[in-house]
Amino acid sequence: MSKEIKEKCGVFGVCGNNFDAARLVFFGLFALQHRGQESTGISSSNGQEIVTYKDSGLVAHVYSEEILKALPGNIAIGHNRYSTSGGSLNCHTQPVIDPDNTLALGHNGNLEDTSKVEEFLDSRGISINGLNDSELIHRTLLFHLRRGASLEDAIFDSFPLFDKGAFSIVVMTKNKLGAFRDRYGIRPLSLGRLNGGIIISSETCALDTVGANFMRDIQPGEMVIVDQTGIEKSYKIMEGQQRLEIFEFIYFARPDSMLMGVNVYAARYNMGVNLGIEHPIDADIIVPVPDSAIPAALGYSHKSGIPLSFALVKNRYIHRTFIEPEQHQRQQSVDLKLNPIPSLLRGKRVAVIDDSIVRGTTTTNLIRKTYIKGEAREVVSLIHSPPFKFPDKYGIDAQRYKELIAARLSIEEIREEIGASYLGYLSLEGLISAIGLPKLNLTAHVFDGIYPDYRDYGIKPKQPVIV
Ligand code: 5GP
Ligand code: MG
Repeated sequence: MSKEIKEKCGVFGVCGNNFDAARLVFFGLFALQHRGQESTGISSSNGQEIVTYKDSGLVAHVYSEEILKALPGNIAIGHNRYSTSGGSLNCHTQPVIDPDNTLALGHNGNLEDTSKVEEFLDSRGISINGLNDSELIHRTLLFHLRRGASLEDAIFDSFPLFDKGAFSIVVMTKNKLGAFRDRYGIRPLSLGRLNGGIIISSETCALDTVGANFMRDIQPGEMVIVDQTGIEKSYKIMEGQQRLEIFEFIYFARPDSMLMGVNVYAARYNMGVNLGIEHPIDADIIVPVPDSAIPAALGYSHKSGIPLSFALVKNRYIHRTFIEPEQHQRQQSVDLKLNPIPSLLRGKRVAVIDDSIVRGTTTTNLIRKTYIKGEAREVVSLIHSPPFKFPDKYGIDAQRYKELIAARLSIEEIREEIGASYLGYLSLEGLISAIGLPKLNLTAHVFDGIYPDYRDYGIKPKQPVIV
């Protein structure tokens, strides 16, 4: 099995009478670009055959008018890929498709344990060599389809094999669109309607982009199947228990998206307000690290009365600093990405707000720059989430304890390491109250070490161990 397994991606699927499906998916993927910038792909069908186009690069660069015209039909799915740790092999670009063009699949999430799927395929003589988790899921569904099963039966029968992990998946055969979500609903997936047809999207922001009306979130453990005319049917495959990844609210999702009925911008704004209550510091200016921390910085500024200043400027054309495989490359990427405006910072007491500290690269670099290049008098670091202590297995690029600065060091040691005069993290309670959803409906495992399925087995969270 491939070791490259961490993905936070965007998926989109459409099906409806008279849809120019690939074009709709193109716009949907454009709106979901923030979920993955490494590669992108679209599969479409006119009822006769599935055609696929995929390549590395951004949505705006990969597709052209000719390419969209060559993707016919009224059913289509698309995928933006975000892969990590050098696992950017072109061969893993999605949608996953077989040589006979029977089934196309786009996956957001990550299977934590692929042993059941591997065993299933292996015992049926299907090679699992070099396949990643998404490809294993695809091969399993394909196995059932080839034996004559319907798409819904194939998903129904395979689902228990994908048991451990996160998946929000769109699939299509040449005449059906399907979508299904793991039993904890760890990654988002929403359903919308457009002109009598169905749109499925990782985030609601992309429904807005194509002019679709939001219907509802697809439920944990639910499968939706849409036929060629755009009529959808819902099936409950497994009893679900909603535990949406809390990091969607902090960083992943676009501020204009609604997750479980909560607007992401509003949640981030409230995180800033709560940060202001928990860490009422004395500063001359509040400086957000763009773009993710802007709503929270605004909340903090309104709460504290300290003015906001956009003294760190982001180059909008830089992507993926977080996933440069080498630490020195990461450092350089931060320099490319963010630059301070000294005239706004000189001699001031500055509070820099960011959404999170993962490895510490970004914060350390920014604090140093604010002091040295910006000549600030004092630099405080405020973070609108708690210490990121536990590895993620479902899509954040941080799987190992030793990479996580908060797993290794105490808050005071982190403060010293990043070089700030004060470091304030938002508490988990403050974070959850900012979102306004019951904690039970969220998974905050990166902060509290309680993984979604631990609750079911009554296992206590472990303290971090450096491995
Ligand atoms: P660090 O530099 O501490 O390793 O990472 C923290 C920075 O990365 C923050 O500025 C945050 O906005 C960003 N970040 C947090 N999680 C992710 C992620 O999963 N992917 C990417 N690309 N950036 C992230
Ligand atoms: Mg950031």
